[in-house]
Amino acid sequence: MRRADRPQFAAADEPTAAMAPGPPDPIAFLQEAVRCDTVNPPGNEAVLARMLCRVLDQAGIKTDLRLCRDGQANLVATLQGNRPGRRLVLSGHLDTVPLGESEWTHDPFSATIIDGRMYGRGTADMKGGLLALLFAFLAFNIRNQGDFAGEVVFAASFAEETGSHGARQMVDDGHLPPFDAMIVAEPSSNQPINAHKGVLWVQVDATGRTAHSSAPSEGVNVIDLLDRFRGDLGRLPLATDPNGHMTPATMAVTRIGAGKGNNVIPDKGFMVVDFRTLPGQDHGALLGRLNAMARNIADARQGGTLTITPLLDLPAVETAADAAILDAVRQGLAAVGRNGAPPGSANYFTDASVFQEIGQDIVILGPGRADQAHQTDEFIEIAEYLAAIDIYTAAIGAYLNTNDPDNRGTQPAEREKQ
Ligand SMILES: [Zn+2]
Repeated sequence: MRRADRPQFAAADEPTAAMAPGPPDPIAFLQEAVRCDTVNPPGNEAVLARMLCRVLDQAGIKTDLRLCRDGQANLVATLQGNRPGRRLVLSGHLDTVPLGESEWTHDPFSATIIDGRMYGRGTADMKGGLLALLFAFLAFNIRNQGDFAGEVVFAASFAEETGSHGARQMVDDGHLPPFDAMIVAEPSSNQPINAHKGVLWVQVDATGRTAHSSAPSEGVNVIDLLDRFRGDLGRLPLATDPNGHMTPATMAVTRIGAGKGNNVIPDKGFMVVDFRTLPGQDHGALLGRLNAMARNIADARQGGTLTITPLLDLPAVETAADAAILDAVRQGLAAVGRNGAPPGSANYFTDASVFQEIGQDIVILGPGRADQAHQTDEFIEIAEYLAAIDIYTAAIGAYLNTNDPDNRGTQPAEREKQ
């Protein structure tokens, strides 16, 4: 489709659109965002954050860009209504995963459009969703011009893919204020998700005693220690969801290493274990159990030790099915003529694991298919991307609907004091 053929973002009858330079074309701007390499590591998210800032600045919207680590940045922008009400946060991450080993048919940074699909790293996960939120935010601003109750906050974070480090910093610095509800634009085929698993990565370091392999009993072989630990891991019960909404918790050994010579008893080794947990599962209790297992094995093999170090610890997320934000999202879907399916669940984690510390009622909904995330030849269907803009715009309006008696209250920060 040529640029001129596309429906323009701001309708011609919007009086304000003619007075100020309008927002950029959503498709062309998504292409620009995909061409901006934010593969993490290293991320370099500040470049993309500045691109978003420029668009927000042009619309006269207050932005708060915070440069964090080398080339990384978090961005928060706020639309303040003229009356008190709920605070809704629109959340997306700026980084993408690396490219993987397979050859791409379409250059991953070309943002090539073929048959209604845009190809490129991050199209689905999640520059499509991030920009759909941005354009909905801009559309809501144009339509309401500050005449609404509450607040809408656009929040773009760095380093989600390596463990939500940007979200962590946003919360720790108070960059993002406490909120009543949040939409996270991870790819979900524009269907609501109200729960996802947590993650706990632990490294198990083993220390033994080296010896010549012709006299193994003179050493303490760390492979034996790790093997025994692995056996005990297999006997750990995995949590199941009594309601059947989520698949059972999982455990997988994802890395293992030990040994330097064919004829040497190894005295150093490690293993990494990946647990995916259910809402309500206590990671502290799980770590306690792993530590006890490690101590037992060390006691049995004198001279050997096993040390447990958590590498990533993010709890699961669950929002009540009757939460107002889920209803708002249903109204958003209805606005584009879709029936929302009952909210589903996801096995992946998102920044919501961290953000739930300062708010609740989090829904994940975004364009793009979850099975496209992290794939070679990742793509997004452009029609779904554009639909997401309309879904979000209507959902924001529904959530901050001033006729709703529930949205006349105080800001959440004040509510917490009560
Ligand atoms: Zn993502």
